[in-house]
Amino acid sequence: MEADILGMSLTKKWAVILIGPPGSGKGTQAELLAEKFGLFHLETSKLGEEKINNPELVRKDQEVAEAKRLYNKGELFPPPWTVKIMVEKIRELAKEGQGIVFSGSPRTLHEAENELPILEEAYEKDNVRAIHLNLTKEESVRRNSSRRVCKANRHSIPDFPMFKDITTCPKDGSELIKRSLDTPETISVRYEVYLRQTQPILSFVQEGGYNIIEIEGEQDIEKVFDDILKGLGES
Ligand SMILES: [Zn+2]
Repeated sequence: MEADILGMSLTKKWAVILIGPPGSGKGTQAELLAEKFGLFHLETSKLGEEKINNPELVRKDQEVAEAKRLYNKGELFPPPWTVKIMVEKIRELAKEGQGIVFSGSPRTLHEAENELPILEEAYEKDNVRAIHLNLTKEESVRRNSSRRVCKANRHSIPDFPMFKDITTCPKDGSELIKRSLDTPETISVRYEVYLRQTQPILSFVQEGGYNIIEIEGEQDIEKVFDDILKGLGES
């Protein structure tokens, strides 16, 4: 591609949504897409944590204080608040002409119903791309019960041969740990929750007239990324 030859980045004003069960590689693929196309990697959890870790905001904003209280108890952020902060951030990024890639959002039909119209309005329908990363429950459980995460930012290090010898996080150098939450039982539950709460988004998106790029997630990272690029018409 011409832009490649000139050494320029292939910046895109896309809004890319990745939908897939735990362990399907949403975060990893989002990072790769962000890097290749100059997209902002928007993570709900990170955005929410930024807010609740801002003491000024917690003091001033009752909703933020409530989100922090729930978070500290190990519960999820309140869905209406999640939608609110996501919509705010989407509008802010769109205004700057910045493309976005989401991982882990929308997570519920409620979120999708609220976020998709905003995306369509801010990015135009053609630029909103939906990708479904398929992964069986067996593989989800296998991958997640043996994955490691970094201490500083919870970057996930999947259980792939290429990562076997890594002992610190490639992104921030922090220690890699196994989370006690990552047992086969809890992962199995998370997969069922995904099927019930998140997967219905696919039909909703399809009914909205979008094509869903179907990807076989049970391949290595490079192959999955290649297939995504093909699906996006970029390879
Ligand atoms: Zn890290």
